[in-house]
Amino acid sequence: MPFVVIGRRQTRVFLIALACLALSVVSWAAVSRAAARGGTDPNLVWYVQTDEPVIALTFDDGPDPKYTPQVLETLRRFGAKATFFVIGRNVEQYPDVLKQVAADGHEIGNHTYSHPLRLRKEGNGEVAQQLTKTAELVAQLTGQQTRVFRPPGGAYNGNLVGVAKSLGYEVIIWSWTTNPSDAYAPGVAQIVHRVTDDAAPGDIVLLHDGNPHPQTVNALPEILRILSEKGFRFVTVSELLRLRGPEATGR
Ligand SMILES: [Zn+2]
Repeated sequence: MPFVVIGRRQTRVFLIALACLALSVVSWAAVSRAAARGGTDPNLVWYVQTDEPVIALTFDDGPDPKYTPQVLETLRRFGAKATFFVIGRNVEQYPDVLKQVAADGHEIGNHTYSHPLRLRKEGNGEVAQQLTKTAELVAQLTGQQTRVFRPPGGAYNGNLVGVAKSLGYEVIIWSWTTNPSDAYAPGVAQIVHRVTDDAAPGDIVLLHDGNPHPQTVNALPEILRILSEKGFRFVTVSELLRLRGPEATGR
């Protein structure tokens, strides 16, 4: 009957429209998620585009005599490798802690000598000195040449990035979608959720082992357990950078 035919057609049209709407919502979510994962400046790295199920955990502001050994112990238990963005003056104070980080097979990154949050306002000479002083300390103690640099507070400008690049560094920020803001002590459960809920292949996770509070250390076993169960492996930042495809220049 005509009525039935029209009804079926309307149903079909409705279903197709619904499917299109669902598809556009899904692709919009994918696009907005990708956009929220990091910036677009090709001179910096927020994450690496890859299908490999790998994540780079990073620990800033150490070495710390209390927290760094606890972080190392947890990483050892899970067979995980990570990157420690160290502050030069802490390296001077706790050389043995740094040596243990390197002995465990982790990467040492450069996080300046004295962690000046206004480093980007400084002249090229001061920036270079902050980096080379720390690089020399790390090299003397561990034999490692630092290849990755994270500016204090993640604050940068073209000048700061230019100096770091001229010294051979890759400038590393962090994935916005896995940032737990652990430096503000939001609680262990929040840190775990923020890191693990949206974790994706190629993420670079910002954590701190140089904090005057133990929340990050206490959250770490659960973070490693959940991400391991999701099938992720834990690599250093330099290992992650090697997965960059030719089409993803700068990332
Ligand atoms: Zn820092």
